[in-house]
Amino acid sequence: MASTSKAKYRGRFAPSPTGPLHFGSLVAAVGSCLQAKSLGGEWLVRMEDLDTPRNVPGAAHDILQTLEAFGFHWDGEVIYQSQREEIYRAALEQLAAQGATFPCACSRKEIADSSLLGIEGPIYPGSCRDGLAEGKIARAIRVRVGDTRIEFTDLIQQVIAQNLATEIGDFVLRRADNISAYQLAVVVDDAAQGITEIIRGADLLTSAPRQIFLQRLFGYATPNYGHLPVATNRAGEKLSKQTLAQAIDAKHSTQQLFDALRFLGQAPPAELRQSSQKSLWDWALEHWSLANIPSDRAIHYGPFSR
Ligand code: GLU
Repeated sequence: MASTSKAKYRGRFAPSPTGPLHFGSLVAAVGSCLQAKSLGGEWLVRMEDLDTPRNVPGAAHDILQTLEAFGFHWDGEVIYQSQREEIYRAALEQLAAQGATFPCACSRKEIADSSLLGIEGPIYPGSCRDGLAEGKIARAIRVRVGDTRIEFTDLIQQVIAQNLATEIGDFVLRRADNISAYQLAVVVDDAAQGITEIIRGADLLTSAPRQIFLQRLFGYATPNYGHLPVATNRAGEKLSKQTLAQAIDAKHSTQQLFDALRFLGQAPPAELRQSSQKSLWDWALEHWSLANIPSDRAIHYGPFSR
Protein backbone atom coordinates (compact mmCIF):
# COMPACT_ATOMS: atom_id res chain seq x y z
CA MET A 1 0.00 0.00 0.00
CA ALA A 2 1.18 3.52 -0.70
CA SER A 3 2.31 5.24 2.45
CA THR A 4 0.84 8.62 3.32
CA SER A 5 3.06 11.68 3.33
CA LYS A 6 1.92 12.65 6.84
CA ALA A 7 4.54 12.53 9.58
CA LYS A 8 4.14 9.50 11.80
CA TYR A 9 2.02 10.18 14.86
CA ARG A 10 4.09 10.83 17.91
CA GLY A 11 2.61 11.69 21.27
CA ARG A 12 4.09 12.03 24.72
CA PHE A 13 3.50 12.02 28.45
CA ALA A 14 5.65 14.53 30.33
CA PRO A 15 5.39 14.14 34.09
CA SER A 16 7.23 16.37 36.55
CA PRO A 17 8.86 14.22 39.24
CA THR A 18 7.49 16.22 42.16
CA GLY A 19 5.85 13.18 43.73
CA PRO A 20 4.18 9.87 42.87
CA LEU A 21 1.57 9.57 40.10
CA HIS A 22 -1.99 10.30 41.24
CA PHE A 23 -5.31 9.79 39.49
CA GLY A 24 -4.98 13.11 37.59
CA SER A 25 -1.63 12.14 36.10
CA LEU A 26 -2.94 8.66 35.30
CA VAL A 27 -5.71 10.28 33.24
CA ALA A 28 -3.12 12.24 31.20
CA ALA A 29 -1.00 9.12 30.71
CA VAL A 30 -3.99 7.02 29.63
CA GLY A 31 -5.35 9.70 27.27
CA SER A 32 -2.04 10.45 25.57
CA CYS A 33 -1.04 6.80 25.31
CA LEU A 34 -4.32 5.49 23.92
CA GLN A 35 -4.60 8.31 21.39
CA ALA A 36 -1.09 7.51 20.12
CA LYS A 37 -1.35 3.73 20.14
CA SER A 38 -4.85 3.57 18.70
CA LEU A 39 -3.56 5.53 15.70
CA GLY A 40 -0.56 3.22 15.30
CA GLY A 41 1.76 5.96 16.55
CA GLU A 42 4.53 6.22 19.09
CA TRP A 43 4.18 7.33 22.69
CA LEU A 44 7.18 8.86 24.43
CA VAL A 45 7.81 9.63 28.07
CA ARG A 46 9.77 12.75 29.01
CA MET A 47 10.77 13.55 32.56
CA GLU A 48 10.22 17.26 33.18
CA ASP A 49 12.70 17.57 36.02
CA LEU A 50 14.03 20.99 35.12
CA ASP A 51 12.60 22.76 38.14
CA THR A 52 15.21 21.07 40.31
CA PRO A 53 14.13 22.71 43.58
CA ARG A 54 10.72 21.04 43.21
CA ASN A 55 12.02 17.57 42.28
CA VAL A 56 11.54 14.86 44.87
CA PRO A 57 14.45 12.38 45.04
CA GLY A 58 13.39 8.99 43.69
CA ALA A 59 10.13 10.29 42.18
CA ALA A 60 11.25 9.91 38.54
CA HIS A 61 12.18 6.28 39.09
CA ASP A 62 8.96 5.68 41.00
CA ILE A 63 6.86 7.21 38.20
CA LEU A 64 8.47 4.99 35.55
CA GLN A 65 7.99 1.89 37.69
CA THR A 66 4.37 2.78 38.30
CA LEU A 67 3.76 3.30 34.58
CA GLU A 68 5.22 -0.13 33.88
CA ALA A 69 3.16 -1.74 36.61
CA PHE A 70 0.03 -0.20 35.05
CA GLY A 71 0.92 -1.81 31.70
CA PHE A 72 2.20 1.26 29.83
CA HIS A 73 4.92 0.71 27.22
CA TRP A 74 6.73 3.79 25.99
CA ASP A 75 8.76 4.07 22.82
CA GLY A 76 12.45 4.95 22.86
CA GLU A 77 14.49 6.25 25.75
CA VAL A 78 13.05 8.48 28.42
CA ILE A 79 14.65 11.92 28.19
CA TYR A 80 15.39 14.05 31.25
CA GLN A 81 15.12 17.81 30.92
CA SER A 82 17.67 18.34 33.68
CA GLN A 83 20.30 16.99 31.29
CA ARG A 84 19.37 19.36 28.49
CA GLU A 85 20.04 22.85 29.89
CA GLU A 86 22.69 23.50 27.22
CA ILE A 87 20.17 22.82 24.49
CA TYR A 88 17.67 25.27 26.02
CA ARG A 89 20.42 27.87 26.40
CA ALA A 90 21.35 27.54 22.74
CA ALA A 91 17.70 27.92 21.77
CA LEU A 92 17.43 31.03 23.91
CA GLU A 93 20.53 32.44 22.20
CA GLN A 94 18.77 31.96 18.89
CA LEU A 95 15.82 34.06 20.05
CA ALA A 96 18.15 36.67 21.55
CA ALA A 97 19.94 36.96 18.20
CA GLN A 98 16.55 37.66 16.59
CA GLY A 99 16.01 40.48 19.10
CA ALA A 100 13.00 38.64 20.50
CA THR A 101 14.15 38.63 24.13
CA PHE A 102 15.37 41.11 26.72
CA PRO A 103 17.03 40.90 30.13
CA CYS A 104 14.80 41.93 33.01
CA ALA A 105 15.92 43.25 36.39
CA CYS A 106 12.48 43.50 38.03
CA SER A 107 11.74 41.71 41.27
CA ARG A 108 8.39 40.01 41.80
CA LYS A 109 7.39 42.82 44.11
CA GLU A 110 8.27 45.54 41.60
CA ILE A 111 6.18 43.78 38.98
CA ALA A 112 3.26 43.18 41.33
CA ASP A 113 3.27 46.82 42.40
CA SER A 114 2.94 48.22 38.89
CA SER A 115 0.97 45.76 36.80
CA LEU A 116 -2.52 44.71 35.83
CA LEU A 117 -3.67 41.23 36.62
CA GLY A 118 -3.70 38.77 33.70
CA ILE A 119 -5.10 35.25 33.53
CA GLU A 120 -2.09 33.75 35.30
CA GLY A 121 -0.91 36.58 37.51
CA PRO A 122 0.53 40.04 36.89
CA ILE A 123 1.06 41.17 33.29
CA TYR A 124 4.64 42.32 32.96
CA PRO A 125 4.48 46.14 32.79
CA GLY A 126 7.37 46.45 30.34
CA SER A 127 9.81 48.26 32.64
CA CYS A 128 12.98 46.68 31.15
CA ARG A 129 11.67 46.07 27.64
CA ASP A 130 13.70 48.91 26.14
CA GLY A 131 16.82 48.37 28.20
CA LEU A 132 17.84 48.11 31.83
CA ALA A 133 17.81 51.27 33.89
CA GLU A 134 21.22 52.51 35.16
CA GLY A 135 22.70 50.31 37.84
CA LYS A 136 20.11 47.53 37.42
CA ILE A 137 21.29 43.93 37.13
CA ALA A 138 19.51 41.41 34.90
CA ARG A 139 17.74 38.64 36.78
CA ALA A 140 15.58 36.90 34.20
CA ILE A 141 15.22 36.79 30.41
CA ARG A 142 11.80 37.53 28.91
CA VAL A 143 10.37 37.27 25.42
CA ARG A 144 8.56 40.21 23.79
CA VAL A 145 5.05 39.14 22.89
CA GLY A 146 4.13 42.32 21.00
CA ASP A 147 0.48 42.63 20.07
CA THR A 148 0.02 38.95 19.35
CA ARG A 149 -3.27 37.10 19.31
CA ILE A 150 -3.05 33.32 19.07
CA GLU A 151 -5.98 31.20 18.02
CA PHE A 152 -6.06 27.44 17.61
CA THR A 153 -8.61 24.65 17.52
CA ASP A 154 -8.14 22.25 20.37
CA LEU A 155 -9.16 18.67 19.60
CA ILE A 156 -11.26 18.54 22.79
CA GLN A 157 -11.84 22.13 23.97
CA GLN A 158 -12.70 23.61 20.55
CA VAL A 159 -11.50 27.09 19.49
CA ILE A 160 -9.15 28.78 21.94
CA ALA A 161 -8.06 32.38 21.46
CA GLN A 162 -5.69 34.37 23.61
CA ASN A 163 -4.23 37.84 23.33
CA LEU A 164 -0.74 37.44 24.72
CA ALA A 165 -0.23 41.14 25.36
CA THR A 166 -3.42 41.72 27.35
CA GLU A 167 -3.80 38.33 29.02
CA ILE A 168 -0.24 37.15 29.70
CA GLY A 169 2.44 39.75 28.89
CA ASP A 170 6.15 39.33 28.08
CA PHE A 171 6.89 35.99 29.78
CA VAL A 172 10.01 34.51 31.32
CA LEU A 173 12.22 32.12 29.33
CA ARG A 174 15.12 32.01 31.77
CA ARG A 175 14.20 32.35 35.41
CA ALA A 176 15.97 34.49 38.00
CA ASP A 177 17.41 31.28 39.52
CA ASN A 178 19.09 30.67 36.14
CA ILE A 179 16.89 27.68 35.22
CA SER A 180 15.23 27.58 31.79
CA ALA A 181 11.50 28.13 32.04
CA TYR A 182 8.99 25.35 31.37
CA GLN A 183 7.51 27.23 28.37
CA LEU A 184 10.87 27.27 26.60
CA ALA A 185 11.95 23.72 27.45
CA VAL A 186 8.63 22.15 26.48
CA VAL A 187 8.64 23.82 23.05
CA VAL A 188 12.27 22.91 22.34
CA ASP A 189 11.72 19.29 23.42
CA ASP A 190 8.41 18.75 21.63
CA ALA A 191 10.13 19.90 18.42
CA ALA A 192 13.34 17.92 19.06
CA GLN A 193 11.32 14.77 19.69
CA GLY A 194 9.11 15.29 16.63
CA ILE A 195 5.89 15.34 18.66
CA THR A 196 2.92 15.66 16.30
CA GLU A 197 0.11 15.78 18.86
CA ILE A 198 -0.03 16.77 22.52
CA ILE A 199 -2.73 15.27 24.73
CA ARG A 200 -2.47 16.60 28.31
CA GLY A 201 -4.49 18.15 31.11
CA ALA A 202 -6.53 21.30 30.59
CA ASP A 203 -4.58 23.01 33.38
CA LEU A 204 -2.08 23.65 30.55
CA LEU A 205 -4.65 25.03 28.11
CA THR A 206 -3.68 28.63 28.86
CA SER A 207 -0.01 27.74 28.22
CA ALA A 208 -0.65 26.45 24.70
CA PRO A 209 -0.83 29.92 23.07
CA ARG A 210 2.57 30.84 24.59
CA GLN A 211 3.97 27.59 23.23
CA ILE A 212 2.52 28.18 19.78
CA PHE A 213 3.97 31.71 19.86
CA LEU A 214 7.44 30.32 20.63
CA GLN A 215 7.11 27.63 17.95
CA ARG A 216 6.50 30.40 15.44
CA LEU A 217 9.54 32.38 16.61
CA PHE A 218 11.71 29.29 16.24
CA GLY A 219 10.12 28.28 12.95
CA TYR A 220 8.98 24.93 14.38
CA ALA A 221 5.81 23.14 13.27
CA THR A 222 2.88 23.43 15.67
CA PRO A 223 1.57 20.07 16.87
CA ASN A 224 -2.14 19.36 17.39
CA TYR A 225 -3.34 19.96 20.92
CA GLY A 226 -6.04 18.15 22.87
CA HIS A 227 -6.61 19.19 26.48
CA LEU A 228 -8.28 16.63 28.73
CA PRO A 229 -10.53 17.60 31.62
CA VAL A 230 -8.54 17.71 34.84
CA ALA A 231 -9.68 15.75 37.87
CA THR A 232 -10.59 17.92 40.84
CA ASN A 233 -11.27 17.07 44.46
CA ARG A 234 -14.37 17.98 46.46
CA ALA A 235 -13.04 21.50 47.01
CA GLY A 236 -12.72 21.98 43.23
CA GLU A 237 -8.91 21.88 43.38
CA LYS A 238 -6.85 20.04 40.77
CA LEU A 239 -5.54 16.73 42.14
CA SER A 240 -1.86 17.34 42.71
CA LYS A 241 0.87 16.92 45.21
CA GLN A 242 -0.03 20.34 46.66
CA THR A 243 -3.64 19.29 47.25
CA LEU A 244 -2.42 16.03 48.79
CA ALA A 245 -3.87 13.78 46.08
CA GLN A 246 -3.52 10.13 46.88
CA ALA A 247 -0.88 8.18 44.92
CA ILE A 248 -2.22 5.53 42.55
CA ASP A 249 -1.53 2.00 43.69
CA ALA A 250 -0.34 -0.73 41.34
CA LYS A 251 -2.18 -3.31 43.46
CA HIS A 252 -5.41 -1.93 42.01
CA SER A 253 -4.12 -1.04 38.56
CA THR A 254 -7.04 -2.48 36.59
CA GLN A 255 -9.63 -0.69 38.72
CA GLN A 256 -7.79 2.63 38.47
CA LEU A 257 -7.27 2.28 34.73
CA PHE A 258 -10.97 1.50 34.42
CA ASP A 259 -11.86 4.62 36.42
CA ALA A 260 -9.52 6.74 34.26
CA LEU A 261 -11.25 5.43 31.12
CA ARG A 262 -14.69 6.23 32.54
CA PHE A 263 -13.42 9.67 33.56
CA LEU A 264 -12.43 10.21 29.92
CA GLY A 265 -15.95 9.37 28.72
CA GLN A 266 -15.08 5.87 27.51
CA ALA A 267 -17.51 3.11 28.38
CA PRO A 268 -15.73 -0.10 29.30
CA PRO A 269 -18.26 -2.77 30.36
CA ALA A 270 -18.54 -2.95 34.16
CA GLU A 271 -17.18 -6.49 34.39
CA LEU A 272 -13.82 -5.34 33.02
CA ARG A 273 -13.16 -3.49 36.28
CA GLN A 274 -12.50 -6.88 37.88
CA SER A 275 -10.82 -8.46 34.84
CA SER A 276 -7.16 -8.74 33.97
CA GLN A 277 -5.19 -5.60 33.20
CA LYS A 278 -4.52 -6.95 29.71
CA SER A 279 -8.21 -7.48 28.88
CA LEU A 280 -8.90 -3.90 29.88
CA TRP A 281 -6.03 -2.50 27.78
CA ASP A 282 -7.17 -4.60 24.81
CA TRP A 283 -10.69 -3.25 25.15
CA ALA A 284 -9.41 0.32 25.55
CA LEU A 285 -7.17 0.20 22.48
CA GLU A 286 -9.94 -1.16 20.35
CA HIS A 287 -12.66 1.22 21.56
CA TRP A 288 -10.73 4.42 22.27
CA SER A 289 -12.64 7.47 21.07
CA LEU A 290 -11.34 11.01 21.45
CA ALA A 291 -14.80 12.28 20.48
CA ASN A 292 -16.28 10.79 23.67
CA ILE A 293 -14.04 12.81 25.99
CA PRO A 294 -16.07 15.48 27.79
CA SER A 295 -15.06 18.99 26.75
CA ASP A 296 -15.11 20.28 30.34
CA ARG A 297 -11.89 21.77 31.64
CA ALA A 298 -12.35 20.18 35.05
CA ILE A 299 -14.49 17.37 36.44
CA HIS A 300 -14.90 16.35 40.03
CA TYR A 301 -13.43 12.91 40.55
CA GLY A 302 -15.35 10.71 42.91
CA PRO A 303 -15.33 6.93 42.83
CA PHE A 304 -17.44 5.53 39.99
CA SER A 305 -20.20 3.07 40.68
CA ARG A 306 -18.67 -0.32 41.24
N1 GLU B 1 5.34 18.56 33.18
C1 GLU B 1 4.01 19.09 33.10
C2 GLU B 1 3.17 18.57 34.25
O1 GLU B 1 3.51 17.56 34.83
C3 GLU B 1 3.32 18.69 31.81
C4 GLU B 1 3.78 19.50 30.69
C5 GLU B 1 3.11 19.20 29.37
O2 GLU B 1 2.47 18.15 29.20
O3 GLU B 1 3.26 20.04 28.48
O4 GLU B 1 2.17 19.19 34.58
